[in-house]
Order: sequence, then C-alpha cells, then structure tokens
Amino acid sequence: METGLGSDPPTFDKNRVLDVKPLRCISPISSFPPFGSQVSHPAPPQPPPNPTGFSQFSQFYQPFFNPSIPQYPVHTPAKPDLPKKNPKTPSSTTNEQGNSTNSSIPIIDSTGASNGGKQRSTSITRPTKRVKISEEVRLSSQEGDSVSVGNVLMKFDALRRRLAQVEGEINKRPDLTAGSIMMAKGLRTNMRKRVGVVNGIEVGDIFYFRIELCLVGLHAQSMAGIDYMVLKFDQGEEPVALSVVSSGGYEDDVGDGNVLIYSGQGGKDEGDQKLERGNLALEKSLHRASEVRVIRGVKDVANPTGKVYMYDGLYKIQKSWTEKTKTGAGVFKFKMVRMPGQPEAFTIWKSIQSWREDINSRPGLILQDITAGAEKVPVPLVNEIDIGDGRPAPFLYHTGLKYLKPVNPLIGCQCQGGKCLPSSNCSCILANGGDPPYANGILAIQKSLIHECGPSCSCYPNCKNQVSQNGPKVRLEVFMTKNKGWGLCSWDPIRAGTFICEYAGEVIDKDDRGGAHVDDDYIFNATHLGDYSNEWNYVPELIGEEKPVDLNEAFKPALPMMISAKKMGNVARFMNHGCSPNVFWQLVLRGQNKDSFPHIMFYAFKHIPPMTELTYDYVESGRMKQCFCGSANCRSFFG
Ligand SMILES: [Zn+2]
Ligand SMILES: [Zn+2]
Ligand SMILES: [Zn+2]
Repeated sequence: METGLGSDPPTFDKNRVLDVKPLRCISPISSFPPFGSQVSHPAPPQPPPNPTGFSQFSQFYQPFFNPSIPQYPVHTPAKPDLPKKNPKTPSSTTNEQGNSTNSSIPIIDSTGASNGGKQRSTSITRPTKRVKISEEVRLSSQEGDSVSVGNVLMKFDALRRRLAQVEGEINKRPDLTAGSIMMAKGLRTNMRKRVGVVNGIEVGDIFYFRIELCLVGLHAQSMAGIDYMVLKFDQGEEPVALSVVSSGGYEDDVGDGNVLIYSGQGGKDEGDQKLERGNLALEKSLHRASEVRVIRGVKDVANPTGKVYMYDGLYKIQKSWTEKTKTGAGVFKFKMVRMPGQPEAFTIWKSIQSWREDINSRPGLILQDITAGAEKVPVPLVNEIDIGDGRPAPFLYHTGLKYLKPVNPLIGCQCQGGKCLPSSNCSCILANGGDPPYANGILAIQKSLIHECGPSCSCYPNCKNQVSQNGPKVRLEVFMTKNKGWGLCSWDPIRAGTFICEYAGEVIDKDDRGGAHVDDDYIFNATHLGDYSNEWNYVPELIGEEKPVDLNEAFKPALPMMISAKKMGNVARFMNHGCSPNVFWQLVLRGQNKDSFPHIMFYAFKHIPPMTELTYDYVESGRMKQCFCGSANCRSFFG
C-alpha cells in the first residue's frame, strides 16, 4: 500500500491525480473510470432522516441462511490437510480484507453466490455416530440477545479449547474444526442478516477468531472483509454493506481513532479491484448514507502473531476514491467515520498504547507499580474519580500464600526434559485425568482440582504445565471505581481461560481463630467449592465424547480453605464481586497430594475487553454486602 493514504483530497499528491470525476450514481461497471485515476466523491446530500438506517430496509430482510441454498458447507477437517500455518497469521494468499481464494470454508454471500469453493459436503469427520443435542444447546436463532450471544461464544470456545487440548499436536486449527461443528449443528445466533446494531453485541466486545463473528451474526463472512446483502428498493435490487473487518494495518488507522480508511476487496494478484460485490455494496452504502458495522483487527499483545477483533460500532462512509498500489493495481478506498454517541472502543486501545509508551500519560496515575517490583508485570494504581492522592489502606504486598501451620508436602512427577504429556505417562497429567489442563497456556476445562507441575517435579521449572505459578502476565491496573471502592481491570484484552492472578494472603484456620476475622473484608472462603460448574466446559456430545470423568470430583480440601488478604496479599484483594462475573476461580495444586493445600487461581470466564472491571462471584464469603455490580442479574446482596 502506498503511504500517506487516508488524507483528504487537498493533501493528495497531485501528481497521482490524473482525472477527478464524481461517481454520483453507480453506472454500469464497465463505465467506471480506469484505475490510475483518482476518483473522489463525497457523500451526496443526505436522504431524509433515518436515525437507525434500518427501518427503510426492515421489510426486506433476507434470512442469513437461505434454506434452499446449502450455505456454509461444513469444513471437513481431514487432519492431513490441515493448514500448517500459524492459526492467526494471515497467509500470503489470504488477505483479511477480501482475497479469499484459498478459503477452507467457502464464502457464500447473501445472494447465495459462492466464492468458488466447490465443497458442498455436510459431513464432518466427527462425531461418527449421530448424537442428540439437548434442547438447551440448540440455538439457531434468527434474532439473538445477550444471553444467546454469550452462550454461543462460550460453547464455541469451550469446544475449541477441548480440541486444542486433545488434538493440539495434530490439529493446528481447532478454531476451524469447532466453528464447522457449531455451524453444522446450528449453534449460532442472529442468523438474520441486518443493517446496523446486532442484538446482544456491545460496542467494544472482542473476539479472537473470525468464525466467532459469524456465529453471533456480527459479520457473516469467515474470510472476506466486507459483508453485504441485497435489498429491494423502489428502483430495484441493490447490495448494501453490513459490516467490514479491518486488517489493522497502519494505513487503516488515521486521525483520532474515529476514522477508518478501508480498502476494497479483490485485486492483488488479479489486477484492479472491480466495482462489484462488497466494493459495490460499500459504494451503494455511501450513497444511501447507510450505517456499516466496523470490526477492527488489532494486534494481540499476548500473541505477537495473533489478532483480536474488536467491534467498534457503527460508521458511515463519507467518501470513496480509487488509488493505484505500488504494484500498479487499482484499489477502492472508502473513508468511514464513526457515528457519534457510541461508547468508546478503539479509542481506548489507542489511549492504552500511549500509556504503554509513557506510563505518566495515564490520567489519574498515583503509583506506577503497586507491587513495588514484586510482580514481573507492574500494576499501576489509578484514581480518575477522586481528586487527590487517595490510596488503599496499607497492606504488605505478597505474591503467594503464607501458611500459619505446616502443610503436607506435595509429590511430583519424574518426567525429564519438561515433556509432561499424556504420552510420557506423567503422573501429574494422569492425576488430571490424562489430558494436560492447559492448551497453549489457556485453561481448557474447569475442574474441581487441577494439578500443575511444581517444585517437587523433575521437570521443574521447564514445563508448560505450570501456567499459574509465575504471577500475572496480563497488564493489570488497580483503579478507583464509581461506587465500589478500588477495583481491578486490565490494559490487555484477556481471552477466555487466561490465567489472571492468584488469591494471595494468609491461610487462616477457621476453627482456631473462631470469629476473629468476622470484620475482615479480604477473606476468601473456598470451603463451599461453589465455583465449579460445567457451564464453562464443552459439550462432549458435540464431538462424540462421553462426559469426561473428573477424577477429583469428590475432592474436598484437607484444610478449611480460608485466606485473608487483609494484612498481606496481591492484586486479587482488589477484585470486586460481580453477579454476572467475567472471572472465575479454580483450585490448583502444584503437584500431587490431595492432603496438601491448593491455590485459588483466577481465570477469565469469557473474552474481556481492555479496561473492563474484572469481577468474580464471592458466593458465600461470609461478608454480606449490598451489591453495586450493575448487572442485569444483580442479586442486590452478595457474600
Ligand atoms: Zn511430568
Ligand atoms: Zn511437568
Ligand atoms: Zn509434574
């Protein structure tokens, strides 16, 4: 791409402007001016007010799935044919913004035209036997809501994690496999294509796979950058753009984060882009002043080759023009401007980027690192609410547990060389039921107890099965909330299953201390083992599995699990209660011996956008408090 794109016409390199002609009304494609000309055309006078951009189309909606057309043929994940490339690295033949020539899931647009994929198979390699899916997991809804969106995303990710856990060595694209299964089973929502807002999806929501956007109806193309549908108007049928996914290249990002210069699709090796399909739809949306959803691809800080897709809300196309790339191919350019009045999303990411470069630019910064170097990743203390230098009551920052009584020793595995895998008969892996608890560092399945490898294992410390032992890796921040005192959030986006932090503090013996700690606001009470549920885990029937046996299901901690972080503790002591939490806790033992003392480890329940408060359900902490979590499911009181 050429540099200096995205500026307004007055700043264009005039040498490149050969011809300027407005393109008011889309004439037959053949009459479009030749590439090499810079055709710039501002938006025409606005049509009569149409605040949603939706009502004028509403009677013409088109089902996302046309039953007569076999859409989204199921990708058959035949293992030898799996792409060997990194799952999140776009290949040289695949461009986020449109070239989908090698798509393994053929792209079908709303008119039913395929991108050339011949695959029409509806069979998948698994499950081999026909399985009955309970009503509870059947979604296939035309109209979604936040519950169905959350449900679909959770089921998809649980399935993907399970596939990564058991097939990680051979299946490099468990996301494609999981996506195909979800599609084939109709486990998706918002299936009706629509212009504008998609039910149950908030501005700022994040996704880690393109297929997630399809499953929730935000962007139905699994690879193409532009999604559109054909609508009937008085003058006949016309394509209208619904959403675009930006690749996150720097040429897209201009100004303050509220403008996107979007390149049309096609071209590259095939010469000039054509004013058809998605490109034509964007052009038509410009002239209709129709809203277009924008999903921005941004670099994943936790994975340098990966991307996070953030829903940045509704934009309108302000103008379009054509340009020549360095290789001489003509491309369409569309200047898209974010509609006002929407919650911040991409602009927050831009702010965070500047804080990373200079932490003193963080407004309200009180301390650069509340851990004073105790954690590997610094944790700033920020107060943007109260004026002044208000700080939390003094406490000793401590990264782990302090035992007041001797703890039974742990037993380790005898694996050499850090290869603790099911195939190596690792006793720690076997204690987990035979599968490693983590897939690529992400917790795969929630269980009553997880065994990591620890200091008593021969593999220590060179083993991947010790994800939660070296402190938080996400960039956390302790901040002043509006009405709950101090809280915890993250600068980084957090993927579901990511380890966040431990609940550090003093291990209290409830029986010995009696009621001495009744007014302790920093007690963690895990005696009820209440946070273990199957909700977060995958549906075994979807991949032809029986329900896995949890070897530790009957696990009861040997000691009363009470931890106080009043006098000493880590960042977890600032995490507030939420009735619809985005974080859960999990018991983790660093080795084997159920008579020893497990750790309380926090993991992300779902994908969490940056600067979202992290909360978990306090359940029966013994400290009944009025709840200000603000969620729709708020129980008013917690503890
Ligand atoms: Zn081992
Ligand atoms: Zn190990
Ligand atoms: Zn081990």
